[in-house]
Order: sequence, then structure tokens, then C-alpha cells
Amino acid sequence: PFRFDKSQEAFRRATRVIPAGIPGHLGPAEGLHIPHEAFPKFSSKAEGTRFWDLDGNEYIDYMCGYGPNVLGYRDKDVDAAARAQARKEDVVSLPSSIMVDFAELLVDTVASADWAFFAKNGGDTTTLAIMTARAATGRKKIVFIKGFYHGVAPWTQKLDYPGVLEEDVANNLYVPWNDLAALRAMFTEHRGQIAGLIAQPYMHGNFVDNELPAAGYWRAVRALCDEFGVVLIVDDVRAGFRLDLAGSDHYFGFEADLICFCKALANGYNVSALCGKDALKEAVSAITYTGSYWMSAVPFAAGIATLKKLRALEAPALFERLGTQLTDGLVAAASGHGLTLVASGAPSLFYLRLDDPDGSLMLHQEWVAECVQRGVFITSHHNHFINAALTEADIARTIEIADEAFAIVAARHGIEG
Ligand code: PMP
Repeated sequence: PFRFDKSQEAFRRATRVIPAGIPGHLGPAEGLHIPHEAFPKFSSKAEGTRFWDLDGNEYIDYMCGYGPNVLGYRDKDVDAAARAQARKEDVVSLPSSIMVDFAELLVDTVASADWAFFAKNGGDTTTLAIMTARAATGRKKIVFIKGFYHGVAPWTQKLDYPGVLEEDVANNLYVPWNDLAALRAMFTEHRGQIAGLIAQPYMHGNFVDNELPAAGYWRAVRALCDEFGVVLIVDDVRAGFRLDLAGSDHYFGFEADLICFCKALANGYNVSALCGKDALKEAVSAITYTGSYWMSAVPFAAGIATLKKLRALEAPALFERLGTQLTDGLVAAASGHGLTLVASGAPSLFYLRLDDPDGSLMLHQEWVAECVQRGVFITSHHNHFINAALTEADIARTIEIADEAFAIVAARHGIEG
């Protein structure tokens, strides 16, 4: 197994000068059964589907920077487009007209997009989406689907989280995923007060098996939003361009009023986009919303190159094929050791859970740690991502390592295949 001495030393330095050492989702996960010393903390280089940690250990990476790596790290076409733009200009007193080219390409690619508004992070676009819904309807309330993640702005957080005011979440309403009766009841109870419904295209929450929409769910949600005058917002920050280049709403057979993109939009270059229908263009135009770097040109060039390459590769079909091959192989390897691995969600964003008869995630966390310490980078509580640089040879190697890890966990717990 790998050693992480340099990572640990850098983390000790980090804790002195950076709050929490590594803040946020790339930091050591709290509440896990496996001590965080069992995982690497810092990377040192990346290429294709791989990265290397500070100690020089090499990983086949299924987290893809938590989404942005969609074509492969340091993709040569995207990097060449970004470098060419950087030689001309990036952040200037006027936007580069390449912003218009990128917006045109998005409108041409995304079925529900009549326009595109650019920002930096996913949370910039989810916040703008709810502001737009409120501006357009003159209503306050927003409906969320339980298990959601829409960023870290106070309105997305919970009342008992530090720094969050009652007022920040006072207009939030929560309904369970895939429950049309609950949604109709909520819409009826708050008739005339609900500005928007914000939802990921399917339930890809953390620490739980992911759940695809039930047959007919999204069409019925669309109809309910129309009936009650509610703006339908799809948060495609995570799933966007992995299920369908035309948008995950298109993939599931409906059209959103507003759709949020970020992670896979520019293969790691820093840009996000809120896209939407013409009916909301005036409302969004009137909102005060901008940032120092939101019109930087280099990420627009990277985004154009990324979308064109994703189209040429017909990437979503490739992701589905690779993701299915991988998860089928992992499930079969587990069963060879008397273990049950549950793969859920879409294959391109697969979620894994090693079933533990006691209902805990202990076995799963042990297996994940054994995989990571052998060069397969996965996590124990979040969906994974496929990128276009992943090969069948990488998948075969991943299954070999996973098999070794299953054997170790099974032997440790006296489980026989
Ligand atoms: N929505 C979803 C579904 C996400 O997965 C994320 C990021 N994990 C966000 C919103 C927030 O994006 P960002 O972290 O770029 O603000």
C-alpha cells in the first residue's frame, strides 16, 4: 500500500495557515470510520485520467476534480485554445467578443437555452436562478428536493449551520424526491407564493444510493410548475454534459425554464453558465449580478474547445458505455468475494456502496481506503465521474485493484466467496 508522508507533512503546515487545513469538499471528510491519515491530501500533477499525489503515488482518478475533468486532465486541444486566447487577452476593461461565440455555442447545444449568462462557480448560477425566479414572479418561496446540494450560499444551507440566519432559509420549502403527491400538496398549500422549484436532474446526494427519476416524474413536475406558475430550475452543475450535451432536462424528456452549468463546461477552466428561456431574459437582465473575473476570456475559449470536442466524441454515449463496463466489473468482482456492491445513479456519474449487513458504511469505507492505497481514487460518500481519457485498459486495471481490495476486506471480516 501507498505511503502519504509528504501529504501529511504538507497538511500539518496547512492547518497552521489555512482554516481547516483544506477547507471544503477536497478536505479530509469528517465522520468517516477510516482515519483521514489513510488518504492522500495533496496532488502534484495530473494528466489524462490520472493524477499523482505529493508522495509520487499514481492514481486512476474517478473523482475528476469533482466533475470538471471531463475530457482528461490537461487536454491538449482545450489547453491549446486557452493558450491561444491568453496570448491575445484575458481580463480587460471590455469583455472579449469570444463571450458571444461561447453563448451562441451554448444556445445551439442546450435544448432549453435561449440565452447564457456567465459566472465562475456553480453556486453563482443557482443563486442567480432563484433571484431570477423571484424577480420574474414577485414571489418569495423556493421548493427544494430533499438530499439537494446547490452550493454554499446561505440560502442553500440549513438553519443549524454556523453563520446561517433564520431569514436566509425562511422561504425554503422541502419535498422528497420522486414524490408527486407531496409536490402537488406543497404547491397547493402555498399557492401564489412559490417563485421556483430547484432540483438536480436526479437525486445524486451524498452518503445515500442515488435515485433516477421515476417514469413520468419529470413530465408531471413540468406540468405542475406550469399549472401553479412556478419557475422550474434544473441544477445541472454536476450532471451537465455527462448525460446529454443538450442538457439533463432534455435527457429526461422535459424542458427547464432555467438550467445551471459549471463543472464539465470548460474541462477545468473557471467558468459557469446560467441558461434559460426567452420568457425570463428580461427578468435576469434587470438583476444586479457580476464579479471581477466573470468575463475573463481564457475560460470562454476553453469552454468552446471543450463543447466542440465533447460533441465530436459523442461523449455522453462514451461515458455511459465506460461507466457501465466499470460498474458491472466491480459488482461482479465483489460478488466473487461474497460481497454485494450496489452501483446506483447514471453510469457516467456512478455512486457505489458496499452493502454491510449492519446497515453502516464501514465495510464500504474500508474497501475505498484499500482501493485508494493501491492507486484507484474513489470516495466513500459521493458519486464518481467518468472522463473521456479513460480507457478499457484503465478499467481492467481498476477492477484488478478493486478485486484485491475486496479480498482484503472479506478476509478481515471472515466473509467467504
Ligand atoms: N449544484 C450541484 C449539483 C453541485 O454538485 C455543486 C458543486 N458540487 C454546486 C451546485 C455548487 O457548485 P460550486 O461549488 O461550483 O459553487
